[in-house]
Amino acid sequence: MDIAAQGNLWQPEEFPLVIAGPCSAESEEQVMRTARQIAKIPEVKVFRSGLWKPRTRPGAFEGVGEQGLQWLKRVKDETGLLTTVEVARAGHVELALKYGIDILWLGARTVVNPFLVQELAEAMKGAPVTVMVKNPIIPDLKLWIGALERVNTAGIKQLLAIHRGFHYFEKSLFRNAPMWEIPIELKRLVPQLPIIVDPSHICGRRDLLQEISQKAVDLEMDGLMLEVHENPENALTDAAQQITPNTLDKLLHNLILRKRTGNPDFENKLETLRTEIDKLDGEMLQILARRLEIIEEIGDYKRDNNITILQMKRWAGIITDRLSIGTHLGLDEHFLKKLLNLIHKESIQRQTRIFNQK
Ligand code: PEP
Ligand code: MN
Repeated sequence: MDIAAQGNLWQPEEFPLVIAGPCSAESEEQVMRTARQIAKIPEVKVFRSGLWKPRTRPGAFEGVGEQGLQWLKRVKDETGLLTTVEVARAGHVELALKYGIDILWLGARTVVNPFLVQELAEAMKGAPVTVMVKNPIIPDLKLWIGALERVNTAGIKQLLAIHRGFHYFEKSLFRNAPMWEIPIELKRLVPQLPIIVDPSHICGRRDLLQEISQKAVDLEMDGLMLEVHENPENALTDAAQQITPNTLDKLLHNLILRKRTGNPDFENKLETLRTEIDKLDGEMLQILARRLEIIEEIGDYKRDNNITILQMKRWAGIITDRLSIGTHLGLDEHFLKKLLNLIHKESIQRQTRIFNQK
């Protein structure tokens, strides 16, 4: 990809690029008050706001639309902050360009659709505008790169990626799973492309933002996009994840900016290994849960047939067999005995509970 340096936006070696502003523009007053407070934080360079909101179900607040562009123009004129909005139709692009918006971004729901991305790219053709492309909702790096390429092919060289996490079917602490290995791989494949992390949409809740923002800078990501609202609790969209300008100020000052080691390979390798560990732990827990389920089935069966819970011969056999397998795999015998006893204890407890049910 032919990507230009972002020197006009910020100096990457100074501080990560900070983009802040409400999830949605709700009124001119809300936008202006929030922007004035944000403008007092010198680290923030860009004001964000959604005007056309992609809502999961119809009937919810869908944004203020075109009138919000005038408010953003006012933000730029009065505070000097650059402005950015999400565009999802060619018509949005035309309007945003007409009102002099500095940066356009493509949302996670748009990036899953190559037809739409192509249409947007064509609407941007040749415009002197910076474009940020969020990752698609699904963890598909090729789709993300494809969208970046489409925009780039339309002549947009000021290009940035935004990592906002991925939809994940399993329950987790986060609204969108960070899957850091994906943006890291993007960095490896397209090193000149800055990656902005959007902790707000990864976390979905305020109390995790500091931790994820720190992780982003520790992983040498280039910037942060945070949702900031003058009155987060009463925001019309994404209320649980927005913070006040004051909290943003604190968050930025609490960030520990470590020196870049000059060796991203080390960090990348470490993250890859840790991701592998996370995966293995997940598998290990699932296997453990499955084992205990079967133990309960056996419990039922024994009870129905009037057989005792503890069967010494079987247990002695398990110990000998598992110790032999485990030590062959390089596991410490003492550790193995402790582990097996712990599992056995839990198994007996489960079966006892089943026996007591009758
Ligand atoms: C947003 O930034 O407000 C937004 C809608 O984000 P995403 O496309 O990441 O869900
Ligand atoms: Mn939002």
